[in-house]
Amino acid sequence: MPRKPKTPPTRFPHAVMANYYTAVRKLIENVHSEVWQAFQKEIVPEIHKYRSSMKNDADEPPEDDNMLDKIQESMEKVREKAIKAVFSQTVMEFIARRFIRGVNKFNKRNISKQVSAVKAVDPTVNEPWLRGFMQVSVKENVNYIKTIPEEYFNRIETIVFQGVKGGKSINDMAGDIRKTKEVSVNRAKFIARDQTGSILGQMTKTRHQNMGVKKFKWSDSDDSRVRDSHESLDGRVFSYEEGADGLYPGEDFNCRCVAIPVFDDEEE
Ligand SMILES: [Zn+2]
Repeated sequence: MPRKPKTPPTRFPHAVMANYYTAVRKLIENVHSEVWQAFQKEIVPEIHKYRSSMKNDADEPPEDDNMLDKIQESMEKVREKAIKAVFSQTVMEFIARRFIRGVNKFNKRNISKQVSAVKAVDPTVNEPWLRGFMQVSVKENVNYIKTIPEEYFNRIETIVFQGVKGGKSINDMAGDIRKTKEVSVNRAKFIARDQTGSILGQMTKTRHQNMGVKKFKWSDSDDSRVRDSHESLDGRVFSYEEGADGLYPGEDFNCRCVAIPVFDDEEE
């Protein structure tokens, strides 16, 4: 009997994920350079003024105690600008939409190839669920992106105000500010990875089920970052109805596992 053509594996859209991450990272870098400038040019001079006035008459409270107001003003100015001009609703929606469309295009093409290998009905031809799914996913991702500048500015403000209060050196504050940028960049990386996995997983599951696939084979990303619990699922077959104890590839935080379709007649 002639062997059936092999079903192409389900693939993970690494490039789409990387583009998403890069786009958000650029926004962070943009905002961070504004913050850095404000810190150097506006905030540090105020701190110096304040500290030298403390030295001159140690018993008296500093005359210039609107220094904190000036610092606050300067922080608010950058924050406002960042939200209006960098992390604007339009820009965030553009990035999120491009990302979701990218995952969809990638997955659609991938599933169509799987379909033609087994000559099933292509589920990507008519997909009434897709529009709503994409709209919701865009909204969710905009909300995730939005948390990045919020958390970033909260941290920066804490660093500056606690630093002034606690008498921290300018160098230490500068170091903390730099670290804060790294935290945000890592957060962007996390969101991109996590969202790529979960959106891809949901699209794959829906499409497989719509083409009549009842079972899938768990496939891990086969690198050092795979969690042990998923490595042990690798290669095992589960029903779409039950999943692996209710779990599906891509669902867990940061999961890059995928579901390979298993057709009724090819089960070993
Ligand atoms: Zn996984």
